[in-house]
Amino acid sequence: MKILVCGGAGYIGSHTVKELLDRNYEVIVADNLVTGHKGAVDKRAPLYVGDLKDETFLDKVFTEHTIDAVIDFAAYSLVGESVIEPYKYFENNIGGTLSLLKKMREHGVKYIVFSSTAATYGEPENIPILESDRTNPTNPYGDSKLAVEKILHWFDEAYGIKYAVLRYFNAAGAHHSGTIGEDHKPESHLIPIILQAALGQRSHVGIFGDDYPTEDGSCIRDYIHVTDLADAHVLSLEKTMEENKSRTYNLGNGKGFSVKQVVEAARRVTGIDIPAKIEPRRAGDPSVLIASSDKIIKELGWQPKYYTLEEMISTAWNWHKNHPNGFEE
Ligand code: UDP
Repeated sequence: MKILVCGGAGYIGSHTVKELLDRNYEVIVADNLVTGHKGAVDKRAPLYVGDLKDETFLDKVFTEHTIDAVIDFAAYSLVGESVIEPYKYFENNIGGTLSLLKKMREHGVKYIVFSSTAATYGEPENIPILESDRTNPTNPYGDSKLAVEKILHWFDEAYGIKYAVLRYFNAAGAHHSGTIGEDHKPESHLIPIILQAALGQRSHVGIFGDDYPTEDGSCIRDYIHVTDLADAHVLSLEKTMEENKSRTYNLGNGKGFSVKQVVEAARRVTGIDIPAKIEPRRAGDPSVLIASSDKIIKELGWQPKYYTLEEMISTAWNWHKNHPNGFEE
């Protein structure tokens, strides 16, 4: 079985590529390398460098390979940037996947797993959040992902393309081999920033707000290990193909940790007294985001293997301390 992974040079994409290869799938990676890294792509998978909005590029990939299914990670994903540059997000995130779907249709590919996000919910109405809860994004990034979810729905109705939409909460950690991990430039995510502060690459980590209505005043998020996410992609793809039926799942641990708890856990894991300072709130941050992942657990038997913050941060620390400059050696 041959799977095309779009955005396979990115953080979650590269981990899913490894997972697929380890389970004996043939994998082709397409990535424009704007945010992805060539070094993140497993050597067993051929890498096509190009943009999903380039139809000639996609025709080449689909002509050179008989693709059975697509997993699409290719997108810009910075919430703050999306508020400042909405055009960039709508043009790339909707335009790229729309072009991909057009080419899938032309080349007779009927299955897609799509990376969506907790940002589709906006300020949650319930905790934990269910897939059936109201979606009301508070930023263009979340709206660009929700727009693609709607496109997928109508492409299923009209053309029979079956999808699995996976709404991720906070991806964390790195591959147990220590060969790939998180590397965004500039970095904006909490755990890598904490570990950069541990390495002395930053003076401190800023805790964005300590006056939220939570126990310790800092924001609560649901952290999920990237390998558990990768596993969920493979399971979702297999089930979607087996049942020829579309589906949408949340992917989280079902447990929330505050920013302060994450900093404390990182201090324990690294043995370093990582400096932290309270800073102003970041615009658009809901106080609590926790997933209910009961649906995917029940329907696919998916079970996260990493439960504790310490386990997740240990794998991230193993990556960061051995690759302080990420994929740039
Ligand atoms: N955060 C923080 N300091 C940082 C980066 C993030 O306090 O330097 C907080 C952020 O406000 C949020 C949580 O950490 O409550 C997780 O943020 P991240 O950017 O990692 O993921 P997001 O929840 O935005 O997807």
